[in-house]
Amino acid sequence: MGKMNCWEIKKCGREPGGSKVKDLGVCPAATDSSCTGVNCGEKGGRVCWAVAGTFCGGKIQCSFAQKQVSCMSCEVFKKIKNEEGNKFTLLKTGQIYQTSVR
Ligand code: SF4
Repeated sequence: MGKMNCWEIKKCGREPGGSKVKDLGVCPAATDSSCTGVNCGEKGGRVCWAVAGTFCGGKIQCSFAQKQVSCMSCEVFKKIKNEEGNKFTLLKTGQIYQTSVR
């Protein structure tokens, strides 16, 4: 079994062709091609925490800085961090880590 993307782990239906696309549209994690290959993922599927505006929980999430607390306790984050081990990548290419939003 290949490495799963967030929409496969969460079965959220917000990927292209997914069952819930009619609600909010396609989630940016499933379309952000700048993230392809990060943590061996398709688009932002294995770095979704770093993609702004994702649709987890059925509502539009904000930037990484704002959503990091919930993302880092999410099963997706934990599973991918565990699978990638010391090859784990926290941020998108060129992204700067912000501790919090003022
Ligand atoms: S970030 Fe959340 S809502 Fe978006 S595709 Fe991944 S699991 Fe689904």
